[in-house]
Amino acid sequence: MKIAQIDVYQVDLSYAGGTYRLSGGREYTSFDATIVRITTQCGLQGFGESTPFGSTYVAAHALGVRAGIAEMAPHLIGLDPRRVDRIYDAMDKALVGHSHAKTAIDVACWDVFGKAVGMPVCDLLGGRTNDALAIISSIYTGEPEDMRARVQAHREAGYRGHSFKIGEDPLLDAKRIAACLADAQPGEYYIADANGGLTVETALRTLRLLPRDADIVLEAPCATWREHMSLRKRTDVPMIWDELVTNDVSVAQLIAEDGAEGIGLKISKNGGLTQCRRQRDMCIAAGYTMSVQETVGSDIAFAAIVHMGQTVPKHLLRCVLDTRDMVSLKTADGDFAVLDGWVRAPEAPGLGIEPRMDVLGEPVASYS
Ligand SMILES: [Mg+2]
Repeated sequence: MKIAQIDVYQVDLSYAGGTYRLSGGREYTSFDATIVRITTQCGLQGFGESTPFGSTYVAAHALGVRAGIAEMAPHLIGLDPRRVDRIYDAMDKALVGHSHAKTAIDVACWDVFGKAVGMPVCDLLGGRTNDALAIISSIYTGEPEDMRARVQAHREAGYRGHSFKIGEDPLLDAKRIAACLADAQPGEYYIADANGGLTVETALRTLRLLPRDADIVLEAPCATWREHMSLRKRTDVPMIWDELVTNDVSVAQLIAEDGAEGIGLKISKNGGLTQCRRQRDMCIAAGYTMSVQETVGSDIAFAAIVHMGQTVPKHLLRCVLDTRDMVSLKTADGDFAVLDGWVRAPEAPGLGIEPRMDVLGEPVASYS
């Protein structure tokens, strides 16, 4: 089996909630998505998506996805897409880094692989667990009572986990945390995510303002490795790292330095399913919890999340993120229904999606 053609599509995904606000005054209203279609010589097709969260979240941007694919695609024609590690070798040889560009191709290869052998991607990644996956909310920053209301709306939709954004003034952030926890129910969990927006000083001041029994996990408090390790020495609040762990090397270093209790495993941030598979196994060995997510994305990105999440042992899977909630465009259909806050990977071969080609439109680039 050989790759005969690689087509690249571009779609704009409007943020479904109007304006998404992160620490540092970052605002997002729309996301530029790149979707790849791989066609084999025997006519099988696979799809993958890479949608950076703007250009100010991690070192990834939408134009870079398509420029990276242009660098790599000519070197992939004629290769067997089922040999996912060898495809990754070829991508690494053609382009250093840029894992967000590699992700769309990598995920499309896994989709082809599954269709070629008649198995869902989660089974190729190691095998599905029997457990449904908990969806987590994503509450952008706002006034404390507004954030509390949005947590409640997600609770009523069945969500048991809530990730809310902080990262400004310690007093305001402490009020936000208190408001988000105000109606907490048994069995729920709460992540306060600063997206690197705090200094060690403001993080410590914020934590000191919280009641001693505030049951939160602190995600990505600071922007640098040194700050995280410094903060780590001075608080016993559990920590998840996100933006600073982007590949095998950083996961290995984090574990070696005992820097966290878990990570946010985001498919395009962490290099696609081939790389996430390895990082998942490293985290399992370390006893780390994982939030399987994406930077953002539509139905195709969500399918990759669900297949990866479906392979994580239940006691280590914190949650998965339904990126579809964040965007107002549907790019594919598939059996990914969320029932009372839970989702399972479909049984269909590959990713189990049927892209809406009328939504994708004409390719913006093709390589053969
Ligand atoms: Mg995060």
